[in-house]
Amino acid sequence: MRIGVDLDGVVANFTKGWTKYYEEEFGKKILEDDIKSWGLSEPLTHFKEDLDFWKWAKDINGSSIFRNLEVYENSVETLNELCKSGHDIVIISSKPWWSIHDTLMWLGENKIPTKEIHFIEDKWTIDCEVYIDDAPYQLENYKKNTVDKKIIRFVRSYNKPLDGVFDIHNWSELIPLLNSF
Ligand SMILES: [Mg+2]
Repeated sequence: MRIGVDLDGVVANFTKGWTKYYEEEFGKKILEDDIKSWGLSEPLTHFKEDLDFWKWAKDINGSSIFRNLEVYENSVETLNELCKSGHDIVIISSKPWWSIHDTLMWLGENKIPTKEIHFIEDKWTIDCEVYIDDAPYQLENYKKNTVDKKIIRFVRSYNKPLDGVFDIHNWSELIPLLNSF
């Protein structure tokens, strides 16, 4: 199978990364459960608009927020296992253009087993059998624009269940779910 895998909020712990730097710089602690909806501006942060958040995130101590993110528990191990079983891991990420070199280094450093990487907003145009994402609007887009594809929501505090979309809460649930298809 070709498995389309998003990065932030799925493999890379973007939430932990940005809240850590945010607390260091602005002194406000934000917990994962505080993030109830999509978006990173007020009232969650002091930024008036998401664009202001991204201006900050573009340069934190000389590199972008995407340079130093932790991987989620069991994510790389599971991706390796899927690769060994003959599946193709297709990275599909809609990151900003300025984050791409940092992301490519991050993918290498974290030994993410992929031979195919896409930076694209219309993720559904990349043909895969399965898609895994956490962004509410991307899950909606997959649903709207694909037929007979398995769409998997990585459950986070800022997304909600969708009809016909499968849920996983951690990486250990992925292989059993794929085996059930
Ligand atoms: Mg994401």
